[in-house]
Amino acid sequence: MKIHKLAIALIILLTGYFSIFGQNREVSVTFDDLPTAYGANLEAKRELTKKLINGIKTNDVPAIGFVNEAKLYERGETDTRIALLEMWTDAGLELGNHTFSHINNAKVSLAAYQDDIVRGETVTRRLLAFPSNRRASAKCVAGSARLPV
Ligand SMILES: [Zn+2]
Repeated sequence: MKIHKLAIALIILLTGYFSIFGQNREVSVTFDDLPTAYGANLEAKRELTKKLINGIKTNDVPAIGFVNEAKLYERGETDTRIALLEMWTDAGLELGNHTFSHINNAKVSLAAYQDDIVRGETVTRRLLAFPSNRRASAKCVAGSARLPV
């Protein structure tokens, strides 16, 4: 009985402590280097992405994926790699810009780094901005090989 009362007192004390001094803290899990950093081939990358997204959604994990768009541009694989990103947005997950080429900001000028950031959001921006027609928009941008203005 004493232990039970002690446990209740501890819970009340901790609840008060956290409500007075604590903040509601939240965490988000980030996944870098999308469309994928791993996977021997496209099917392995698709399966990994599927498992990852299923785990995130099943466990209701707040998550965001950060994209290096340079990894989209593999001959004959660009549309499939964009589709990997669409798996994220179709699942209601957010994507962010992780620079175009994963450039090392310690080794380039500020201007070069800024250019790489701007270049790194061409497809991702369209995926997030135009969910209803994003496939056509993203493929169009990827096919044009132009830098954003
Ligand atoms: Zn990274």
